[in-house]
Amino acid sequence: MSLLATDLVGTGRFRAYGPRQLDEIADRYGLPTEVRETVRLVSLVLPFRVNEYVLSELIDWDRVPDDPMFQLVFPQRGMLSEQDERGLAALSADPGTKAGLRSLVQQIRGRLNPHPSGQKELNVPTRDGAPLPGMQHKYRETVLYFPSQGQTCHAYCTYCFRWAQFVGDADLRFAAPDPSGLIAYLGDHRDVTDVLVTGGDPMIMTTERLVNHLEPLLGVDTVRTVRIGTKSVAYWPQRFVTDPDADDLLRLFEKVTATGRNLAVMAHFSHPRELRTDMARRALARIRSTGAVVYCQAPLIARVNDDAADLAALWRAEHAAGAVPYYMFVERDTGPYDYFKVPLARAVDLFQAAYRTLPGLARTVRGPVMSATPGKVVVDGVEDTPEGRFFQLRMLQARQPAVVGRPFRAFHDPAAAWLDELRLHPDTPADIVRAVTGHDRAAEAAEDSDDTADTGPLAVAAGAR
Ligand code: SF4
Repeated sequence: MSLLATDLVGTGRFRAYGPRQLDEIADRYGLPTEVRETVRLVSLVLPFRVNEYVLSELIDWDRVPDDPMFQLVFPQRGMLSEQDERGLAALSADPGTKAGLRSLVQQIRGRLNPHPSGQKELNVPTRDGAPLPGMQHKYRETVLYFPSQGQTCHAYCTYCFRWAQFVGDADLRFAAPDPSGLIAYLGDHRDVTDVLVTGGDPMIMTTERLVNHLEPLLGVDTVRTVRIGTKSVAYWPQRFVTDPDADDLLRLFEKVTATGRNLAVMAHFSHPRELRTDMARRALARIRSTGAVVYCQAPLIARVNDDAADLAALWRAEHAAGAVPYYMFVERDTGPYDYFKVPLARAVDLFQAAYRTLPGLARTVRGPVMSATPGKVVVDGVEDTPEGRFFQLRMLQARQPAVVGRPFRAFHDPAAAWLDELRLHPDTPADIVRAVTGHDRAAEAAEDSDDTADTGPLAVAAGAR
């Protein structure tokens, strides 16, 4: 395949469509009135944004509203409670109740757990006693950096666990105006080897802005890997192919890899359709030509990709494009979680059914993985024993490095969808119990001699979310 950017369809300039353009979209694609009204109401609470490429290349309008790409980007009935939807409808119909509508929207957002996994309280680093804006530091070797101009995306996923970044509420937002705080922090923390530049989507920035955020990192000798979290290859692959500064972007990538550092593009693909366009495949080829490695990840989402054949097709397509299938995450408890969640038992079945069909070199994908407060926990499988049925779990990453890689078990529960809904096996080593639950079981047992039972639901413990 040629890497030249000519002769491609969809080479226009980027234009975002939001709630204000809903009627234009609805008229163009013949969206039923009821669907249009639902999108209008739900998008008062949850962010809504699409673009021409998503509309014309990714959504199958003959299958709306069930089409997975439509579900991925358009707010849907069922994402909010019926009562909330009714309240929004009543207040938005009356121009005299603007303040009431604003207040209801705020209330609903507050109930949707805008910062899961203790991101606001536990992961914000400090320097000289002051919190550093636009950064998170959860694992010893990796710092997350949120450049302020990169806090939107080419389109918004309805399941986004960072949706709070996009709703215009400063209190819900991570954003660093420039990299000076990051560089100073890295100077103090020389065990940080990886910086993940994330958002939103950093690829929404012009290359000129991206240079301002990335180049200073190249002066920090301890940083060996620059990761960029992005869904742009799926939502706007033109960013790497035909945008006016696409070639400059590739030169920037080459500059990073020429220093001997790893440049890891952490690409977010939700459905195999996102890899079927020439533009997306061209974008991946161009990224890889710079020496960057593309790792692919996405959550498992009901109505979008909870199908073993689709998952297998997704990972095969990633592998065929020279990218590395990396993570299948479990959806986090935020936003319209009940609409999208897939119980762990089903997630394991889907993962294994898809995984078994892959060629060996594509079996780099790991899942289902919960990125929870204590760390990343993979569900390796289900085990039947004379004692009963268990989930086999393992810490892939943890705040406490000593527990990384160690297996443990929890009682099988077909309805459980997250770590804090599980009960650990009573033989679980104390340091793993402590890491996972935040509780010291030995101390609790000493206080309560009746405490001979298994470790109770993690929900009673501090923040396993
Ligand atoms: S692209 Fe990523 S950050 Fe942006 S809305 Fe989707 S999941 Fe969220």
